[in-house]
Amino acid sequence: MKIVLATRNPHKLREITAIVGDLGVEWVPYSTLADAPVLKEEGSSLRENAAAKAERGVAFTGCVALAEDSALEVDALGGAPGVRSSRFLGEGATDEDRIQEILKQLRTYPWHGRTARFRCVVAVAQPGRPTEFAEGVCEGYIAWEPRGTAGFGYDPIFYVHEYRQTLAEIGPALKNRISHRAKALEACREILMRLRDRGRS
Ligand code: IMP
Repeated sequence: MKIVLATRNPHKLREITAIVGDLGVEWVPYSTLADAPVLKEEGSSLRENAAAKAERGVAFTGCVALAEDSALEVDALGGAPGVRSSRFLGEGATDEDRIQEILKQLRTYPWHGRTARFRCVVAVAQPGRPTEFAEGVCEGYIAWEPRGTAGFGYDPIFYVHEYRQTLAEIGPALKNRISHRAKALEACREILMRLRDRGRS
């Protein structure tokens, strides 16, 4: 059975296949599909964005498709950048620009005022049936400065208290057990197993 992975982000692809790669399905990266339409993130919620990407994958291929949308929510910034996490500071901005801006805005905040979380919504879409969803959250703090070289995006400033390290320091094996993405994907493992088993029968 094939499941299209409706993302063009190579970091997400790597993490998703590491987390649920043991399911015994063939994962088809969106980037390998010739002429596949653009995956837009224009919705006002993670759920809307994840559904739009997964449903676009189904419409283009006729196969089951999985997509996710993630956000960093910083409490001191009223939950920003939130659903706009990838568009924070506009099109031309880099991860480094976004990190520096968050550090700047939190400059005067003490440690207990630096709480934040990553949220991830996974959507699994299939032809002719309602799209199903699962969500995962990873709680942490915005670090004083970037630390670590693994991961991507905001990982260098996302400090996980339990491990006393940022997500960019703890490395992929542990990140893929404790992250928002890992939790959301584990929560939808049953959905994926059901689809896999239906595909086999
Ligand atoms: P999106 O889900 O592709 O819209 O990502 C939203 C923003 O959050 C982007 O700037 C990503 O780089 C960032 N992001 C998403 N997931 C993660 C993660 O696991 N770690 C760090 N940053 C992330």
